[in-house]
Amino acid sequence: MSNERQHQVAVIGAGPTGLMAAEILSAAGMAVTVYDRMPSPGRKLLMAGRGGLNLTHSEPFDKFAGRYGAASDRLRPILEAFPPAALVAWAEGLGEHTFIGSSGRIFPKAMKASPLLRAWLRRLGGQGVELRTRHDWLGWDDEGALAFHGPDGPVTAEPDATVLALGGASWGKLGSDGRWSGSLAARGVGIAPFQPSNCGFVADWSSLFRARFGGTPLKGIALRFEGQSVRGDAVVTHYGIEGGAVYALSPALRDAIARDGKAVLEIDLRPDMTRSRLTDRLSRPAKGQSLSTFLRKAAHLPPVAVNLLREAGDLPSGGALAALIKSVPVTLTATQPIDRAISTAGGVSLDAVDDDLMIRALPGVFAAGEMLDWEAPTGGYLLQASFATGVAAARGVRAWLGER
Ligand SMILES: Cc1cc2nc3c(=O)[nH]c(=O)nc-3n(C[C@H](O)[C@H](O)[C@H](O)COP(=O)(O)OP(=O)(O)OC[C@H]3O[C@@H](n4cnc5c(N)ncnc54)[C@H](O)[C@@H]3O)c2cc1C
Repeated sequence: MSNERQHQVAVIGAGPTGLMAAEILSAAGMAVTVYDRMPSPGRKLLMAGRGGLNLTHSEPFDKFAGRYGAASDRLRPILEAFPPAALVAWAEGLGEHTFIGSSGRIFPKAMKASPLLRAWLRRLGGQGVELRTRHDWLGWDDEGALAFHGPDGPVTAEPDATVLALGGASWGKLGSDGRWSGSLAARGVGIAPFQPSNCGFVADWSSLFRARFGGTPLKGIALRFEGQSVRGDAVVTHYGIEGGAVYALSPALRDAIARDGKAVLEIDLRPDMTRSRLTDRLSRPAKGQSLSTFLRKAAHLPPVAVNLLREAGDLPSGGALAALIKSVPVTLTATQPIDRAISTAGGVSLDAVDDDLMIRALPGVFAAGEMLDWEAPTGGYLLQASFATGVAAARGVRAWLGER
């Protein structure tokens, strides 16, 4: 038996990040135990699969690596070491063939996560990875051992190295609630406050608009905020507005609300028609049509869009109406509750980990995945960075155990 085989590694969190670290470490001959508090692994991955499982994105690497905002510089070498092509090859190695959607996003052909997760768990089992579910990690005990609440009571472990892959702080019912942050903060680890990312926003709709259009999509629109412009779809909800185009602006909207108490989002209901063309069409005689019928015919606006214009106040006519259609102001006053966000910003500060993702204050303990303080839009960037940081932490564990 080689020296390396004797190394015991605990991976806490059986999401995509932790399972990826476990795969690499077990393939390198280490004895890996994966702990998770839930009765089964990968619950958020399975939930992501309900939307088709957008694994990653096909855009050029430089553009891809720039999607992580302030964290882009730190994540770039980690993504370079495990880029989108490597993730696609890995998925295909598990029998999940992928395709590039019209927006450049990459999905498994199965459009769900369950076959991938099943094949992956089989591979991990074959590599000797031990999975201990229903083990809630509580932190460290007085002797420095990892402490869990297991199905039959307290459990402790003293591995040679630990990978924490505990996820963010949304969708707590799937296992990730961010409670781990207390144990780390108590040990001097820098933690940035959790914030919702890729989330919906509260708007003060009239009760009529809310009742009639809650749940109605706004398709093919453009959203503008603070110099950023995003084309795509959104959904009017009972509480406000959500959907891909809104998520893309969510960091800027969230920060403005925190700063100013509100954010005024501009919606272009006809981004493919110039204002002068719209003005021209709206100057034609209405010939006894109701305003809704006229706007539907002249500007191709569906009822939800016409009523969104009305939410902004009394409707002007001619050029002023065209201007409003190109820029309907919607005042947002709050984010959706964090538990409903697709992902979260905040968590273990990137300054608190070294380039191998080892927590500086806790030698031998690594942190990876959504629990690190980065955020990115939807589009496959979340899973790609989770997998890639799982790879990086595993590489860090190998280097650290090799050095000792
Ligand atoms: C509805 C929805 C759709 C999504 N769709 C996509 C998508 O299409 N593409 C994309 O890129 N991203 C998507 N995401 C985001 C993506 O799923 C996450 O970013 C990703 O799962 C994060 O991986 P992770 O392994 O770091 O954390 P998680 O997947 O959250 O896994 C963390 C694990 O740690 C466990 N854990 C937490 N605390 C403890 C504890 N104290 N003790 C023991 N175990 C603990 C949890 O039970 C969980 O199993 C989606 C998210 C949601 C909510």
